Amino acid sequence: MQGNDEDVYLGVQGGQASSFFSWRPQSGSRLVPHNYNYLMFSDMSRVVHFEDYMTTLQNDTLIPNGTNGSRFLSHLNFGDDPLLCFGVSCPDQHNRYGNFSFTIGVNRLLSHLASQGALHVYFLEVMEFTKTSVSRIMLSTNPSNPYRLPLYDASTVGGPWYRDQFGNNYHSHTTRRFNNAGLNQHNELEFVLHLYPAQYHKLYEVLMVEAVDHNKANHPSYRRCVKHRSGPGGLDKRCPTPWSRQVAEEYLRQLQD
Ligand SMILES: [Zn+2]
Repeated sequence: MQGNDEDVYLGVQGGQASSFFSWRPQSGSRLVPHNYNYLMFSDMSRVVHFEDYMTTLQNDTLIPNGTNGSRFLSHLNFGDDPLLCFGVSCPDQHNRYGNFSFTIGVNRLLSHLASQGALHVYFLEVMEFTKTSVSRIMLSTNPSNPYRLPLYDASTVGGPWYRDQFGNNYHSHTTRRFNNAGLNQHNELEFVLHLYPAQYHKLYEVLMVEAVDHNKANHPSYRRCVKHRSGPGGLDKRCPTPWSRQVAEEYLRQLQD
């Protein structure tokens, strides 16, 4: 598949069985068709399972790349680089990613990282699935730009993340597809952090932990657990902690006692 003059086709990571491909609009080309395709948001979160939460507690820091050995799906091969993904926080909805959310305000996250050096914001990719997409922005304090990514300007409307002059943040719930082939029914915004280990420890200390709803983790639907349906066994694997928010809250309370 080739891109046209506007869109840059990036491919997929070699050899990975995936039903998506990655691309990026050219600088200045709109990804979000209309301004009413934006929703305001204020918090980002990283959601993990109970077992991964316990590992985090034991290590007293966030664990980059997850704790299940999985690598980032992306058009790039990041090797063992310490990356960590945050999504837009939706605490009242069923969560496909796990039981506990590490949450932080977007503006707090940005100022926290900027206080540790110049913060670089890059457009990583749009991962396009059959009907949906994930738009990824990379945040890094590393000035060397090892992946040669284009800078992302959040103050310009049209991309997956828009930040107005008052510091209000918006994400796009839909995007156009590659080469303008219609619209994606749903788009998620992700921040991919590329930080040093000491920075993950500092970030861990300012995050808030809350329980989320994961009780439909074994239902045969899009709510199905993301972690436990991937890898060997695939769709037949069952999530060991398909808990309601109330159950997860009880575990959290016991751990904090
Ligand atoms: Zn699960």
